[in-house]
Amino acid sequence: MTHFDLHSHSTASDGTLTPTELVRHAHDAGVGTLALTDHDTTEGVSEARRAAARLDMGLIAGVEISVTWSGQTVHIVGLNLDTKHARLEEGLAGLRQFRDWRARAIGRRLENASIPGAYEGALALSNGHLVSRTHFARFLVANGHAKDVRDVFKRYLVNGKPGHVAGEWARLNDAVDWIREAGGQAVIAHPARYRMTRTKLHKLIKMFRDAGGEALEVVSGSHSRDETYTMARHAKDFGLLCSAGSDYHGPENPWIEMGCLDALPPGCKPIWYDWSPVAKVR
Ligand code: AMP
Ligand code: MN
Ligand code: MN
Ligand code: MN
Repeated sequence: MTHFDLHSHSTASDGTLTPTELVRHAHDAGVGTLALTDHDTTEGVSEARRAAARLDMGLIAGVEISVTWSGQTVHIVGLNLDTKHARLEEGLAGLRQFRDWRARAIGRRLENASIPGAYEGALALSNGHLVSRTHFARFLVANGHAKDVRDVFKRYLVNGKPGHVAGEWARLNDAVDWIREAGGQAVIAHPARYRMTRTKLHKLIKMFRDAGGEALEVVSGSHSRDETYTMARHAKDFGLLCSAGSDYHGPENPWIEMGCLDALPPGCKPIWYDWSPVAKVR
């Protein structure tokens, strides 16, 4: 088990625990250092930091940036950020603006598919924070349109389905720049989830590394053990550091728990190898 969990979500994006509840949950599960990496926002970080300080736990200021690369959505995690950095904040604000527009567009599309009120429903579930497809999914489940969140994605929210609206997220180079300018380290999140061919994944990793990206999320709550070993190999081949994160979204998703991540495979250089105890609570 590793002491680090460097990928998690709170109610600031599509998690169901508040930053305070999330930090407490991580602490109870034995996590020593947690990164809060909400989608396209760092809004929850200051609350999480206060909660972690009370528990004498490490809290890494992070974000998970939505990127469109080669026609598909890719997630780039930033760790150890100065959350007040102007360029990062502007970049994220732009993505949240696109989210607002997209949420309305998804609502209109679902309305055309005879599902009224989905925009208002998702908005209410987001509690004044950003709206993600997860909020639409929870609304649709609550209203009996699908049996669970995964089922909603399959039937409504992905390419070719009635509630799908294509993402127009950040460019890969911009996302990495924002993270680096804010003093952070960029990580390709859950690389096995993109279902890319080896050639395409290599192209992504090369571009990411050339842009100044530093690490691959080798251990992820959404990776199988085989995928973990494959990604460890890629990290080694490209000279990248390795990260580990659960991608925890709350207790409603029991297949991803905190505090039970596998250790990085042998030969991996952890992204935290040179983190000082001071950096941990920045
Ligand atoms: P968004 O960034 O608003 O497009 O929403 C993406 C989020 O939806 C991801 O971060 C996941 O939390 C969730 N998600 C994506 N695909 C699925 C799926 N097939 N089943 C359950 N949740 C999913
Ligand atoms: Mn999510
Ligand atoms: Mn992700
Ligand atoms: Mn995530």
